[in-house]
Amino acid sequence: MRSHEKETATTHQIDLPPYRPPSEAHSVLLRVTRGCPWNRCAFCGMYKQLRFEVRELEEIYRDIDALREIWPQARSVFLADSDALVHPRRLEIVRRVRAAFPEAERITSYSRLSTLRRLSPEKMRDLREAGLTRVHAGLESGSARVLERACKGITPAQAIAGGRRAVEAGFSVCLYVLCGLGGEEDWEEHARETARVIAALRPQFVRLRSLALLPETPLREAWEAGRFVPIAPITRLRETRLLVERLSQLLLEHGDGSAETPAEIEIVSDHFTNQVWVDAAVVYEGIHGRVPREQARLLAILDHAIDRAQRGRRTEDIGSLALRRRIPQL
Ligand code: SF4
Repeated sequence: MRSHEKETATTHQIDLPPYRPPSEAHSVLLRVTRGCPWNRCAFCGMYKQLRFEVRELEEIYRDIDALREIWPQARSVFLADSDALVHPRRLEIVRRVRAAFPEAERITSYSRLSTLRRLSPEKMRDLREAGLTRVHAGLESGSARVLERACKGITPAQAIAGGRRAVEAGFSVCLYVLCGLGGEEDWEEHARETARVIAALRPQFVRLRSLALLPETPLREAWEAGRFVPIAPITRLRETRLLVERLSQLLLEHGDGSAETPAEIEIVSDHFTNQVWVDAAVVYEGIHGRVPREQARLLAILDHAIDRAQRGRRTEDIGSLALRRRIPQL
């Protein structure tokens, strides 16, 4: 482009993020940082090829202007990459997004729970008032042992503190749980402790994903070296069952229905990694519903899948498939 030509949406190269949650499929995607500042989780290959960078404010603003030109009536905007709130100018960015997309009903962001924990209550409130409405954060597990083996870089107590900071500032919090992360040995501990942390943290949503051991990740190397026993598909169904049951029980005991301790949490498994096949037929696609109210319906879906798996000849999921084939990325 020659210097006298005005940059427009068609000439400006927008830097789009490589990942976003499925629920942000219809959102404007704005890259605030590149890659992951932690990048050490033992199961994750998402940003392994990328060196972490905080994007320059001017670059971000140019993207906002171009996105606004392309999609002026956007109903939602998502900030990426994996930990957008680590950007030191996050508040100005959120304000600029709010001004550019006044019709947007939500502005959301990926954030690590450790980043939320480091932001003061005042900073979180400022972000909320500026228009950020939801944070998507990876909990993965509530078990200290499982988190340590996964090199998540956070303890269960720190995860609760980070999540509560967002809840108390008025954010809608969406937590991600990685089914199967405890393997065959720690699945019960993984389910019980994850339920405990979720019940203490009180997100609005819990999204389930399932573990598949990807090439060149430390957890796959641990399996190859005999230090990690991957979970079987049927055990993963039992693990999810225990998580739903235990979480429902804890919410019934302690949910008062207020904004800070809502009586219900929505569980969503909107990811293909959750599927289970028995003799090549899909018997489980995931669960979607509110606990504890819909506990019985969700447990019935899981019981049906467990029964099919017990009676079938061969049960598979992405996790078991990944052990025989090298699935590059999910
Ligand atoms: S799981 Fe999230 S925090 Fe962990 S390395 Fe991957 S992107 Fe980073």
